[in-house]
Amino acid sequence: MKLRFFNTMGRLVEDFKTIETGVVKMYCCGPTVYNYAHIGNLRAYLFDDILRRTLEYAGYKVDHVVNITDVGHLTDDNDDGEDKMVKSSRESGKSVWDISKFFTEAFFKDIDNLNIVRPTVNPKATDHIEEMINLIKRLESKGFTYNSAGNVYFDISKFHDYGKLALRERQDLTAGARVAVDPNKKNAHDFVLWFTNSKFEDQAMQWESPWGRGYPGWHIECSAMSMKYLGDQFDIHCGGIDHISIHHTNEIAQSEAATGKKWVNYWMHNEFLIMNKGKMAKSSGNFITLDSLIEDGFDPLDYRYFSLGGHYRSQLQFSVESLNSAKSARENLFERVIQLKKDTNNIPSTKVGVTAKDYIAKFQDHISNDLNTPQVLSDLWLMLKDSNLSSGDKLFVVYDFDRILGFDLLNLEIPKQNDEADLEPEIKELIDLRNKARSDKNWERADELRDILLNKGFTITDTPSGAVWSKNV
Ligand SMILES: [Zn+2]
Repeated sequence: MKLRFFNTMGRLVEDFKTIETGVVKMYCCGPTVYNYAHIGNLRAYLFDDILRRTLEYAGYKVDHVVNITDVGHLTDDNDDGEDKMVKSSRESGKSVWDISKFFTEAFFKDIDNLNIVRPTVNPKATDHIEEMINLIKRLESKGFTYNSAGNVYFDISKFHDYGKLALRERQDLTAGARVAVDPNKKNAHDFVLWFTNSKFEDQAMQWESPWGRGYPGWHIECSAMSMKYLGDQFDIHCGGIDHISIHHTNEIAQSEAATGKKWVNYWMHNEFLIMNKGKMAKSSGNFITLDSLIEDGFDPLDYRYFSLGGHYRSQLQFSVESLNSAKSARENLFERVIQLKKDTNNIPSTKVGVTAKDYIAKFQDHISNDLNTPQVLSDLWLMLKDSNLSSGDKLFVVYDFDRILGFDLLNLEIPKQNDEADLEPEIKELIDLRNKARSDKNWERADELRDILLNKGFTITDTPSGAVWSKNV
């Protein structure tokens, strides 16, 4: 399967070729663990996951690195503001280390709930201070840095290609009116490699360095950790679209300045999740977590389905109504797959016919063309509704698609239904009332009745052919 991806560097869809045959080395910017990830952040990790699964489906071994930022990420990416971890610590009264541990665990819980394959390495910034110091020393010895007011800066005027990812012309590199220019900088877009405590007296995380006791800038960590685990040159670097103009631009400058070589071949960026016409962001308070969706009765995989319904390079508008449609579609899919399992005793065809092969070819064509997940979901439904296909062939194709879609359909269990005759009249009545509430689209009442039934020891699962119940043991 030949892969083609949109490369932000150059803004073109390109054929994908690896540096080393059969292996993809990929670095994705990870979470800053000062708060819960919101579902907009999680969209980025779902994109990484689809990318990784596609690469593996195509036969590559993937070395997938996602960093955990637990120091140095300021509230403004341009070196202004306060360290996000320190701010969270001050507001909560907990130590930065406790905060980091707590939110790292919360992050992995979300990742697991969404069936995102865990990265091969998850380096923590605070475990790699030595690597960052060494990289800064390399830059210093090559003349790319200067010291000012106690901090070490990267001098962008020394790096001739600065801004190539963001397509910034050198003459446009004057700081915007929005940000007050740091008088200690030679050029407005120079950035800090190492802060000493001259800037933030109350920074709890500090280390000795040749430039004084302090802590690293945010950008240097991604260069230091990616190069440690993937080498001086690697295949793919991912991140949210908001990283293009500052974070990734600075990562490229310092990495290529240090090695003198091209650093990364493919830059891939996902667009934002939009809510109420704005980017979902913790700073604006305009955000929803995965846990809050679960509390509202959604399955985390409803959100996975919802995300796949949008192309990663398009903005995705979030609303409860659209998540509800994703939920019904996902439930419908699971129900169909359960039916296929029942029809075939869960044994997919070993040799599929031409029609099934055509569907797989179409699917591969769409996913390999810059990860067209919305098209793939529509392929999936066309296939499931195709009366020319046997159940065995359908099951084979659905399992094949699911290697990338990631709903874990192979392990989807056929729900056990207890005997109708065992049902007490009171329970039977509650189930009937709930079915009626659902058919009246009175979701609130339906949820209420489901909770009542749950309290009485009955779990209700909604399927396209109506609700099924099971008694909890
Ligand atoms: Zn990064």
